[in-house]
Amino acid sequence: MNSSMIGKIEKAHRYAREPERVRFGTFEATFRGSHDDYVVQLRGDEWSCNCHTFSSHVVGTCSHIMALQQMLAPMLSEEARFATEQVALAS
Ligand SMILES: [Zn+2]
Repeated sequence: MNSSMIGKIEKAHRYAREPERVRFGTFEATFRGSHDDYVVQLRGDEWSCNCHTFSSHVVGTCSHIMALQQMLAPMLSEEARFATEQVALAS
């Protein structure tokens, strides 16, 4: 392996410990819930989930979205990190 590739790998290891360098804009993930698998999406600052809680539109969030907000916190914009959670806490 040439030295420039070794340098890139070392840099990648360093970056991997600095999640705040990464900002998710859009993603889709399958979340294995207690009863079923759910599809959670982020588009800009808008979350969605195909579980019953989210679909009922009562709180605007669900346990799957809230869990991902905690897991990905350093990699989310301020809005995506807190938006729906504040709605849920306020209601
Ligand atoms: Zn959900």
